[in-house]
Amino acid sequence: MLFEIGVLGAVIGSFVNVVSMREAKGEDFVHGRSYCPHCHHSLCAWDLLPILSFLFLRGKCRYCKQSISIRYFLVEIVFTVLFILVALLRQPTDILGYYFCTMCMLIALMDVDSYEIDLRILLGLITVGFCIRLDSVEGAILSMVAGLVLYITVYGVGMWIWKEEVFGMGDVYFLAALGSYFSPSQILFIGLLSFVIGGGVVIGWMILSKRNQLYAKIPFAPFISISALLTYLFSIQWF
Ligand SMILES: [Zn+2]
Repeated sequence: MLFEIGVLGAVIGSFVNVVSMREAKGEDFVHGRSYCPHCHHSLCAWDLLPILSFLFLRGKCRYCKQSISIRYFLVEIVFTVLFILVALLRQPTDILGYYFCTMCMLIALMDVDSYEIDLRILLGLITVGFCIRLDSVEGAILSMVAGLVLYITVYGVGMWIWKEEVFGMGDVYFLAALGSYFSPSQILFIGLLSFVIGGGVVIGWMILSKRNQLYAKIPFAPFISISALLTYLFSIQWF
């Protein structure tokens, strides 16, 4: 059972990766055939097996021998691990868990690829979140407001101190949307954890690259996604 769930995760991960990269380039991800970004040769089924094709081809295109980005492989592995964790830590039949992981990863990847969070995807996330909490809609709304207030406060303080955005408004909406899945205390925990993880990554990167200033714009949604996935998978109750 775990094996099938892992395979499902890899297949969905492969698809989500392509959706994010094609969206960023403004390409059609439903009809367009997969092709090598170097030689533009269209790829056959054997070249598109999640995880396995990358290993068999040793990370190189079959036709032009140029390197394939390791990102395909890594994203497929992460999806496989996430799906197996849902089955182990929650339940193998936790469809909502698979959906939640997929959406969090999609939003994180799209932020990495295009620095944008698609509001339609957030609406989809909220709609499903409300459907599973029909018995406590007020609870869902309260959590969304808690998320919104926390991030808008930090956003405002950041603007006041540094005169620039510490994260985008898309991130504010993302945390608020996550409120539909969590309790108010959990959403505050996710918000605070995202700063700890994001801050840790930025400081680590500055130490490793021996820089004392941040030049690159950093997508923040991945840190929110990691925090939300940890809280969801391990059912973290803060207080
Ligand atoms: Zn090629």
